[in-house]
Amino acid sequence: MATCRICDTLYEEFISFGEMPIANGFLPPEDFDQEYYFEMKVGFCSSCSMVQLLEQPQRERMFHEDYAFFSSLSKGQTAHFKNFADSLMSEYLTGDDPFAVEIGSNDGIMLQNLASAGIRHLGVEPSENVANVAREKGINTISSFFDEKLAADIIEKHGRADTISSANVICHIPYIHSVLAGIAKLLKPRGAFIFEDPYLGDIIEKVSYDQIYDEHVFYFSATSVSNMIKQHGLELFDVEHLNVHGGSMRYFIAKKGSRKVTEDVQTVLANEERLGITLPETYETLRRNIEGSRDQLVKLLNEIKAAQGSPVIAYGATSKSTTVLNYCNIGPDLIAFISDTTPLKQNKFSPGMHIPIKASDEIEKNQPSHMLLFAWNHMQEIMNKETAYNNRGGKWVVYVPEVKVI
Ligand SMILES: [Zn+2]
Repeated sequence: MATCRICDTLYEEFISFGEMPIANGFLPPEDFDQEYYFEMKVGFCSSCSMVQLLEQPQRERMFHEDYAFFSSLSKGQTAHFKNFADSLMSEYLTGDDPFAVEIGSNDGIMLQNLASAGIRHLGVEPSENVANVAREKGINTISSFFDEKLAADIIEKHGRADTISSANVICHIPYIHSVLAGIAKLLKPRGAFIFEDPYLGDIIEKVSYDQIYDEHVFYFSATSVSNMIKQHGLELFDVEHLNVHGGSMRYFIAKKGSRKVTEDVQTVLANEERLGITLPETYETLRRNIEGSRDQLVKLLNEIKAAQGSPVIAYGATSKSTTVLNYCNIGPDLIAFISDTTPLKQNKFSPGMHIPIKASDEIEKNQPSHMLLFAWNHMQEIMNKETAYNNRGGKWVVYVPEVKVI
């Protein structure tokens, strides 16, 4: 049992993924014996419909400077956030001397567009070395965690905000009520808080359980977000489904009654009702589907190994892969190595299962017949890049939305 972080109701897990290491904790062999584990359990609060981790490791264990993640390294992401910045400027930052705040502004991938348009802005980024990269680009950034106290400081120094935005950050924050209280204070009367995170509806429909890992404490739906923000006098006035990160939702939030609620909100809420997002049975089904996906993947990898006489090679040492490998108990006997282009991860080992991570030139040396695709959410980009492998008939093993060879 645990207490819901949103509404204080007691709730239980619907699935335990067992002992799990830190998802992004790629490590050298000398650190194997001190590796940290926690039991990763996910529960559904039947009172407010929030899906959440029962326990989350301390943030110092998950986010440290060695594993800093720089958003601008991805071309697809750069275009995504340029579009978002353009829509902020045309819809919300149109008044006199507008002011935009971003929570978890990373290396300034979104704010750089506002900065170059001369718009007053402030990024809040807890990771000091990531914040420094943004500052070098001329983006106003403070290194801090956003909460109610920081919101008060921002109001004092800069005034209230026309927009507060955040991407792939809000679902990381367990002390969410302090964040929402700060947002409610910091927004101008008609200001908008716009955030995007992986969408629970996609996780249920695609059985994409690898979205579940230590950093993500909440798995949001429009239903649970509405319930959560109500407590702070806020309401959901628009939603936009996004095809990034395997399916995300962008939520548009304002002070209750300050903006017209779009029909899309009603449509998404009705879809969620149909999907059973408010019913405990839905999560029992999800658990069975996750177990089925695990059993099929292990069976398929064993078959490929038997046919080719050697373990499979995997592609993309993602945080998501840590959940799959540890939950399915897939180790070096089934996967020879994981290929990844990130220099920081190369020559280290995967968290928990200790599969070697190697540079991508190892793929051609091994001439595999099959590769397991962990970065399935970037499938199109990868297919375009790996033409040599595809042209000589190399096959891909995927497990979302179903386990199959393509
Ligand atoms: Zn609750």
